[in-house]
Amino acid sequence: MSESSDQHYVIVGAGQAGAEVASELRKRGFEGQISLIGDESVAPYRRPPLSKAYFSGDAEADSLLVLKPPQLEKNGIDLLSGVTVDAIDRATHTVTLSDGRSLQYDKLALTTGGRARPLPCPGNDLDGVFLLRSLADVDAIRAHCNAETRMAIVGGGFIGLEVAASARKAGMAVTVVETLDRVLARVTAPVVSAFFERIHREAGVDLRTGVRVEAIEGTTKVEGVRLGDGSVIPADVVVVGIGLIPNVELAEAAGLEVDNGIVVDACAQTSDPDIVAAGDCANHPNRFAGERIRLESVQNAMEQARVAAGTMLGAESPYDAVPWFWSDQYDCKLQMAGLSGGYDDIVLRGDPAAEKRFSAFYLRDGQLIAADSVGRPQDFMFAKKLVTLNIAPDRAKLADPEVPLKAFLPA
Ligand code: ADP
Repeated sequence: MSESSDQHYVIVGAGQAGAEVASELRKRGFEGQISLIGDESVAPYRRPPLSKAYFSGDAEADSLLVLKPPQLEKNGIDLLSGVTVDAIDRATHTVTLSDGRSLQYDKLALTTGGRARPLPCPGNDLDGVFLLRSLADVDAIRAHCNAETRMAIVGGGFIGLEVAASARKAGMAVTVVETLDRVLARVTAPVVSAFFERIHREAGVDLRTGVRVEAIEGTTKVEGVRLGDGSVIPADVVVVGIGLIPNVELAEAAGLEVDNGIVVDACAQTSDPDIVAAGDCANHPNRFAGERIRLESVQNAMEQARVAAGTMLGAESPYDAVPWFWSDQYDCKLQMAGLSGGYDDIVLRGDPAAEKRFSAFYLRDGQLIAADSVGRPQDFMFAKKLVTLNIAPDRAKLADPEVPLKAFLPA
């Protein structure tokens, strides 16, 4: 037996990042006890399909699980589900659980993720108003819906637009209300936003941008959404997708440094040497952003979790992975590599105004920093590599669909 066998590593948060920390610890040969604690009643599962295939009924709940009971058992991971960690006592290395238990830890991982931001307006608690973050949320929404449902979606981000596509597929009448003057404004360029606005309108979505939601109307249940101009969109169900609030309260109460997320270094270590953090809740230095950032993506959850597990075991392998994201809407798959914030030039390959297959390349000072691709998976695959290499591509070649991106790789 190695010296790690009498150690107890505790992971708070049983989402994809938490599950990955646990699995990675075993992969790296950790022989001690692993406790994975989550407040949901199910085993860790993949969230991305919630607004897509699971919402549409094309995927079963079981297919979303990332650690099923046999794998938990095989890997010796003690899953404590339906339990919240209420406090961390760093001096005694103890966590207190909502069921009254307390656990001693040698190392602690915080993979607490985030919660959906509630809509700050009157009527947000009416029956028929939903946030979307968990399996249980989607089950509740689906139980309220049928093909006749009039659904109003607040927020034209990834969640709102994916739900809009899923709901249209199910035959519902769908309205999307976005405060800003375009959808996906946080993550992409106007030309890509315009593409997604077009495909949603072509699919029959009533898309309203640049409008505020004043109130959700109804007596006991939702009847409509009142907008800033006084008009009311009739609705039976309202789905709110206006972003995520990172779950940092536990870390903050324990005196860890928090600033738009739990502050970690490149190795996912918090301001306490025995505590790491990873995933949606972690604010980390990111060379692709050129600053500290908190990323909400599966890529980040998984890759940062592996770095965090390494750090718990004393390895020093900094997190330096290129960020990537994807979204499925109707028959279009958007794949994004890199972070486009701060671009000063954009080069298009294909015509987003006319086709459903194109890439938008983002440059800063001539250097490729990001790419958004729809229906061009090869572009995405090579863009991920190229963005890490700091290349300064020829604009004309970049715009030419006949030039494979592979050609930009250094010889
Ligand atoms: P999510 O993961 O929930 O989709 P995003 O940040 O990608 O989060 O998108 C949220 C979207 O909601 C943004 O486009 C933002 O402008 C929009 N939004 C935020 N607050 C409101 C609001 N009160 N009404 C309508 N849209 C909103």
